[in-house]
Amino acid sequence: MKHQERWHAAMQNNYGVPPITLVKGKGAEVWDDNGKRYLDFLGGIATNVLGHAHPVIVKAVSEQIGKLGHVSNLYSHKQGIELAEKLQDLVNDSSARIFFCNSGAEANEAAIKISRLTGRKEIIAATGGFHGRTTGALSITGQDAKRTPFEPLLSGVKFVEFGDPLAMRKAVSKKTAMVIIEAIQGENGVVVPESGYLRKVRAICDQNGALLVIDAVQTGMGRTGEWFGYESEGIKPDMITLAKGLGGGLPLGAMITLGDRSPTFKPGEHGSTFGGNPVSCAAANAAIDFIVKKDVLKKVATSGKYLKVMLAKVPGVAQVRGRGLLLGIVLDANVATAVASKAMSNGLLINAPSRNVIRIAPPLIVSKKELSEFVKVFARTLNEVLNG
Ligand SMILES: *Cc1c(COP(=O)(O)O)cnc(C)c1O
Repeated sequence: MKHQERWHAAMQNNYGVPPITLVKGKGAEVWDDNGKRYLDFLGGIATNVLGHAHPVIVKAVSEQIGKLGHVSNLYSHKQGIELAEKLQDLVNDSSARIFFCNSGAEANEAAIKISRLTGRKEIIAATGGFHGRTTGALSITGQDAKRTPFEPLLSGVKFVEFGDPLAMRKAVSKKTAMVIIEAIQGENGVVVPESGYLRKVRAICDQNGALLVIDAVQTGMGRTGEWFGYESEGIKPDMITLAKGLGGGLPLGAMITLGDRSPTFKPGEHGSTFGGNPVSCAAANAAIDFIVKKDVLKKVATSGKYLKVMLAKVPGVAQVRGRGLLLGIVLDANVATAVASKAMSNGLLINAPSRNVIRIAPPLIVSKKELSEFVKVFARTLNEVLNG
C-alpha cells in the first residue's frame, strides 16, 4: 500500500493527507521515498535552524542518549542547567528564570498561568496572532476559524488589531494581567508591525502594570537576524516564550520570566514530564554554541537581505516582508496554494499561510548557492502558475 493510503487509514485527518513522504535530509536538502530531492525552505516550519542531520546536533544527541536519556524533573541534569544559563545570557538578564516544556503551545500555557499569579484575570492578544492549539493557547489565538469550533474557551481574553497602538491603549487597563504579541506574526503570513509598535505596547503595559509577553516561538533563536526578534525595538519584555528553533530540531519549548515584575512559579505550581529533557537540551546547547561560534546571526541578516532584493524583482511578486530568514512573499494574485504545490513538484518546499502569501523559513545555515537556486526555481514556479 502507498504511504498516503496507509496514512489515511491510520491517522487523524487534522493535517490532511501529506502529499509526500520524506526519508532523509542533509542541511537544506531533503529526499522523499522515490529518491526525489527538495530544497527545504520551510525548515520544519522555522524549526530546523541548523538544517537536517547537522554534525553538531547528531553528535550532541547521540552522545547524550548514549549516556543519559529521560530522567523527569525530580532530578536535575547538566544539560538543562547549562541551557538555562545560556538563555539568561542571550536575554541579557541574570534574573531571568526559565521553565522548559516541549512545544510553543505549552510555553504559552505556562505564560497564561504565570499571568494568573498576578491576581488579574484579563489577557489582551492580537487579531491574527497565533499561540498554539491547546485550549489555553487557542484561547489567546486571534484567528476565529481555529477557535470557533472549540468554544467555549478561556474567558477574559480580548483581541485588538495587531499593529495598532491606539487600539491597544484602549483595551489595556489595571485589570489586564498580560498582553501577548508576536514581534512578527508568522502563521498569519509574516505580518510585520510598524517600527516603534512594540515600544508603544511596552509603555502601555508599564502605565497599567500589565505584563508584556513576547511570543518568540517562531521569531526566536536567530531567525530574524537577532536572537528573539524584539531587540531592535529596544524593549525588555516581562516574559518570552520559545519553541520551534530552540531544540535545534528536537522538541523543546521554554517560558522565560525577565526582570522583577513577573511572578514566578513556586514548587508544585506547574510541570511537564518530558520538559527540558537531557537529549533536547543537549541539542539546544549544541545549536546555540554553533550559532554563536560561527556568527550565524550575521549570515542570517545577509541571506535575508539578498533574498528580499532578488525576490522583489520576480514578476508576480508584490512585496517581500519579514526580517532575516522569516520572509513572506506577497503575490499579486491569490495563487499561493497553487504556487506552494507547484513548487513541491519543482523540488522546493515552501508553504502558503494565506491566499496570497508564501512563507519561507529555511535553515539559518542555508548557503549562497542554495539561496540563488531558490530564487531561480521560485521564479520559474510562479511563472508556470501565472502563465502556464
Ligand atoms: C508555532 C507557534 C506556536 C505553537 O507552537 P507548537 O510547538 O506548535 O505548539 C506558538 N506561537 C507561535 C508564534 C508559533 O509560530
